[in-house]
Amino acid sequence: MNKKRDKKKFSRQNIRLRNLDADDLDAFYMEEIHEEKRATKKAPEKGQQTLKSDVQLVKARVLEVLTNHVAIVELDGKPLPCTISGRLKNLNFETRNLVFAGDWVHVDRSQDSRIEEILPRGNSLSRFSEEEFQKEIVVAANIDQVVITCSWTQPELRLGLLDRYLCSAGIADIDAVICVNKIDLAGSLDEVRDTFEYYEQSGYPVYLTSAEKRIGIEELRGLLIGKQTVFSGHSGVGKTSLINLLHPDYDALVSDISESTGKGRHTTTRTCLIPFTFGGYLVDTPGIKTFALHRNDQNVLPHVFPGFARFAVGCRFNDCTHTHEKECGVREAVERGDIPQSRYESYLRIMESL
Ligand code: GDP
Ligand code: ZN
Repeated sequence: MNKKRDKKKFSRQNIRLRNLDADDLDAFYMEEIHEEKRATKKAPEKGQQTLKSDVQLVKARVLEVLTNHVAIVELDGKPLPCTISGRLKNLNFETRNLVFAGDWVHVDRSQDSRIEEILPRGNSLSRFSEEEFQKEIVVAANIDQVVITCSWTQPELRLGLLDRYLCSAGIADIDAVICVNKIDLAGSLDEVRDTFEYYEQSGYPVYLTSAEKRIGIEELRGLLIGKQTVFSGHSGVGKTSLINLLHPDYDALVSDISESTGKGRHTTTRTCLIPFTFGGYLVDTPGIKTFALHRNDQNVLPHVFPGFARFAVGCRFNDCTHTHEKECGVREAVERGDIPQSRYESYLRIMESL
């Protein structure tokens, strides 16, 4: 790693985030109020309005959606508050929150800054509401990877929980990486490697780190460059400590953004993209440390459970649940010992819990 070059980028990044002015935002909130009034006067037919011809569209990335009408995008390396086109809102009448953090959008710069188009999404990260119908709430779009962090101990390692996280990532079609932190507390590294051997064999990259002893940090940073990454994992495993090491100015950057938007970081549940100084983004989702499985996921679980896919090719039925069916490649692999019994039991527990 070239530390000098990193430092230089750092300072530029700080300027970036400080460029957002609270006054600018006030103007946009006012615009929002006017828009609301206009909207109540005349609600055009869904899908009728098309983009006017004199627009100057530029491509930008959404860093944060402040309200249904205002979002912050990153344009030329600077945060820029934008309104969200009323035309878009009418086109997407049903989806209240139609622009998400992480979205690529086209912004019209010809008059003010207005988001006019949302570019097709690769994927999106959702959580589900608590009520009975479990409404899907998208928290961010276009996620490249999730770093699922666990700790070797303190809190105690729970592979069953890791399996759940990996299943969620699989269902959302997001690449998952495993980070085992607090390896300074392990008796031997071989023991750690043995414990995670099955996951490595199943195709998940496994990073061993210690935030305390600063082990494996450079390797982890290398993984984040140019990507849009979510850190997830049980509280207390060391996510904050790792992020602070990966990005020493992280806290300062977050409070800069909070100040500029006039809202405290700790009181919000909005997702926010934090640009890494070395390129790439941290997708910060306060309030969502886990992403829960949905009861409909029971159908996909047999396909996404860690390490099952390569054995499921031997299942007689495409929709094999690997529980009672004849000629099940997964159960045969369990019998041979290719899938550890403990992982198979974990699978059954997750299935049952849905
Ligand atoms: P988070 O809840 O996942 O964000 O976890 P934190 O970063 O707040 O860390 C929780 C606790 O674990 C803190 O007391 C940290 O000092 C400690 N901790 C974090 N990383 C390590 C590590 O690598 N080794 C040890 N021994 N402790 C760590
Ligand atoms: Zn099967």
